[in-house]
Amino acid sequence: MTRIIDGARLAISIREDTSAAASVLAAQGCPPKLAVIVATQDESTSWYVRSIARGARQTGIDCDVVNVGAAASTEDIRGALLAVNEDPDVHGIILQTPLPAGTGGEVLREVIDPAKDIDGANPISLGRLVANAPAFAPATARAVMALLEFYGVSLRGKHAVVVGRSTVVGVPTAHLLTQADATVTVCHRQTTDLAARTRDAEIVVAAAGIPGLITARHVAWGAILIDVGTTATEDGRLLGDVDAPAVEGRAGALTPVPGGVGPVTTALLLQHTVQSASTHFDRLRTETSTDLAVLPAKR
Ligand code: NAD
Repeated sequence: MTRIIDGARLAISIREDTSAAASVLAAQGCPPKLAVIVATQDESTSWYVRSIARGARQTGIDCDVVNVGAAASTEDIRGALLAVNEDPDVHGIILQTPLPAGTGGEVLREVIDPAKDIDGANPISLGRLVANAPAFAPATARAVMALLEFYGVSLRGKHAVVVGRSTVVGVPTAHLLTQADATVTVCHRQTTDLAARTRDAEIVVAAAGIPGLITARHVAWGAILIDVGTTATEDGRLLGDVDAPAVEGRAGALTPVPGGVGPVTTALLLQHTVQSASTHFDRLRTETSTDLAVLPAKR
């Protein structure tokens, strides 16, 4: 039987720890705050952003959603990002996609202050991550790692295949798996014979956004499948990249869609916000004590 890796349960435990840390910071006068910049009226995006905001508030994190509208220009979005960069009360920033056509998401991501870049969107964050310097990894990549850890999967020496090479999911996930001592193969649209690659893996991370891409013939007996894919259907369902009925009994474990990577990703965005607030608070405290140290002694 294929075990289901329960992301919702892991998300609850991350949120409990995050909530405890948030209340300590609030009591010290530094309530964590998240800002989400949105430039669309798209209903599924609005639903997703409302769920992040609700989750944040339930965890004791303030959340401002700044919707600059679907007609926003690059300058409008840049302005909104600069305002939250400069706001000392904001500790985490999400630039929600999709952005209006022609606004240049790549350029706008570079505007996010890396210290507040809690979803690792700025290329500086990815560069620092790959250079093993402190940085926020994209929350989805961290969610993959957290789910594997939660399930007790030892990665050392294992062969992991990541299907997808986007800079928000595939590339950072491949890097984190490598850092955890797995041997990693990255597959993409141009990969020939995907099934032969994935069948050779003990761990498969599917992040292509193609519903049902991974079927029984792609999976070795007992392999662990982390399904990142989420494709929304017109009737409101969410489909993963793994054909779950087809791999049942063959895969050792599988994350469901929904209820796998998604809730853990959201929980980690909140955890990152609290970590950023904590770093901000520690810096303020150090600066204040340094300032006191240079005050002339009283005569
Ligand atoms: P993307 O479109 O930027 O990248 C898709 C990648 O898949 C590309 O590198 C492409 O080369 C590869 N690919 C496409 N078809 C393929 C095929 N037939 N064989 C092998 N590789 C193939 O998408 P993304 O932003 O990386 O997102 C991937 C999926 O993950 C989407 O379904 C997205 O909705 C989902 N996602 C989920 C979460 C979450 O929290 N659960 C977060 C982010 C993204």
